[in-house]
Amino acid sequence: MADPGATLLERLPGLVGRAHVLTAAADLEPFIADWRGRYRGAARAVVLPGSTDEVAAIVRACAQAGTGIVPQGGNTGLCGGATPDEGGRQIIVSLRRMNRVRALDVANATITVEAGMPLAAVQEAAAATGMHFPLSLASEGSCTIGGNLSTNAGGTAVLRYGNTRELTLGIEAVLADGSVLSTLRGLRKDNTGYDLKQLFIGAEGTLGIVTAAVMKLFPAPRVSATALAALGSVDAAIALLARLKAALADRLTGFELMSALSLALSRKHHPGSAEAPPGHPWYALVHAEDSAPDAALAAAVETALGEAIEAGVAADATLAQSVDQGKRLWALRENISEAQRREGPNIKHDISLPVSAIPAFMHDCERELAAAFPGARLVVFGHLGDGNLHYNLAAPEGFDPARFMDGGERANHVVYDAVARHGGSFSAEHGIGQLKRADLVRYKSAVEVSLMRAVKAALDPEGIMNPGKVL
Ligand SMILES: Cc1cc2nc3c(=O)[nH]c(=O)nc-3n(C[C@H](O)[C@H](O)[C@H](O)COP(=O)(O)OP(=O)(O)OC[C@H]3O[C@@H](n4cnc5c(N)ncnc54)[C@H](O)[C@@H]3O)c2cc1C
Repeated sequence: MADPGATLLERLPGLVGRAHVLTAAADLEPFIADWRGRYRGAARAVVLPGSTDEVAAIVRACAQAGTGIVPQGGNTGLCGGATPDEGGRQIIVSLRRMNRVRALDVANATITVEAGMPLAAVQEAAAATGMHFPLSLASEGSCTIGGNLSTNAGGTAVLRYGNTRELTLGIEAVLADGSVLSTLRGLRKDNTGYDLKQLFIGAEGTLGIVTAAVMKLFPAPRVSATALAALGSVDAAIALLARLKAALADRLTGFELMSALSLALSRKHHPGSAEAPPGHPWYALVHAEDSAPDAALAAAVETALGEAIEAGVAADATLAQSVDQGKRLWALRENISEAQRREGPNIKHDISLPVSAIPAFMHDCERELAAAFPGARLVVFGHLGDGNLHYNLAAPEGFDPARFMDGGERANHVVYDAVARHGGSFSAEHGIGQLKRADLVRYKSAVEVSLMRAVKAALDPEGIMNPGKVL
C-alpha cells in the first residue's frame, strides 16, 4: 500500500514551489524546538505558503493524507504549541512568507495584515501613518500577528488597550477542510449571530490556520511619563493602582508590580541598572501616555503619586525626568526574566486573579509553598493592572537545581489550587500548548471542557489541526 505521507510530500512542491518545502534536517532545525528549549519534536517537512490559497491547498492535501498540521508563526510561544510531536509525520506550516499589509484605513483606524507579519512590523506600519498599534511584547521583533491572535497575547499595554482579542475586528482563517472563513470587514458593530472570529483567537492553531486579520489602530501617544513607586504591601500597590486609575483614567497604560527580590535579581544581573529606593518589599512601575502633545501628563502623575505618599499609600516614588530615564526604569522590569534565567532554574507560573483577590491569594499560597518547599524563594512580578502575575519559585540558595525542578508538578498544584480557590486562571497570557494540557482538564469545569471538545469536533472532526495541543 502507498505511504500516504510520501504521496503528500510529493504533492507539496507543486502547491507552494519547491523552494518553499523544507525537508533537510538542517533546514528543519529552527522550526522543531521551542524558544525555551523545553520541547523538541520531528517533522516530515516545513511548508512556507505565500498566500491564503496556498494555505488552503496545503490543508486539503494534508486532510486527504490524514496528516497532522502544526501552524507556526515566530516560534516564540512559551507552552510548546508550535512544536510538532516526536513522531516525525506532522507538517509544520510556517506563515513567515505571508508578511504583507493588505490595507491600512486611517479613517476607519484599522490595518489589515497577513498572519506572518512580525508584530514589530505591524507597529511600524501603523506608526508610518501617525497611528498606533498598541500590542507590545518583549518578543515583538520575532513573534507574528497570527501567533499573537492564536495565543491571544497580552503584554505591557493591556491595562489600557486590552489583549489581542480586544484589538481584533476580523480574521481570515483556513479551516480543517481547506475552506476559507473571512470576516475581514473592519466593523466595530456587527451583531449578526455568533462572532466566529472569537473561536480562532486563543485557539493555538487547533481549529484552523489564521491567514490574515483586521486590527484596530489608535491615535499615537505624543507624551509619556514613567515612575517607580516603593510600597509596603501588595494591598498598598492595589490602592495605588485605584488612585492612579481615578487620576489618569485611560491614560494609565501600565502598572507593573515587582517584589524586592525580583528587582534585586534584575539589578544584580544587569549592572548599571537604574537605582530604586532601598528597603521596601514591593515596587510598582507606572507608565502613562497621552496623545495630546500639550497634555500636562508628567505633572498629573507627579501629583497623584505625591497625594498617594501623603495618604500613606506609597512609601516613596521617583518620576523619570527624561525619556532615557524612563527607559532605564522600564529595563528594571524587562530584565527580570533574563535575570531569573541567569540566577538558575525556576518553576514558573503565569497566573491571573481578580485584582481584589490577589492579597488573599498571596497570603495563602506563600504559606503553603513555604511548608512544601522550605527555603524556596518566591520571585513575583507582573502586570498587576491586569491581575496577571508571574509567580515563580526559585530554588533555595545552594540547593541542587535539578532536584528542585523535580518538584515542579507538586509546586504547580499548590499554586494552581490556590489560584482556583481565589477565582483565578492557571494560564493568564501564555496559553496551554502542550505544557498545560493536563491542567486544563484539572482546573476548567467539566462543562467548559466538554464544550471545547464539541467545538473542536465540529471544526476539525479528523483532528488534523495541531494535534496534541490544548485538548
Ligand atoms: C522574550 C519573550 C517575551 C514574551 N512576552 C510575552 C508577553 O508579555 N505576553 C504574552 O502574551 N506572550 C509573551 N510571550 C510569548 C509569545 O511571544 C506569544 O505567545 C506570541 O503571541 C507568540 O507568537 P508567535 O508568532 O511566535 O507564535 P508561535 O510561537 O509560532 O505559535 C504559538 C501558537 O500559535 C499557533 N499559531 C501560530 N501562528 C498561527 C496561525 N497563523 N494560525 C493558527 N495558529 C497559529 C501555533 O501553532 C502555536 O500553538 C513572550 C515570549 C518571549 C520569547
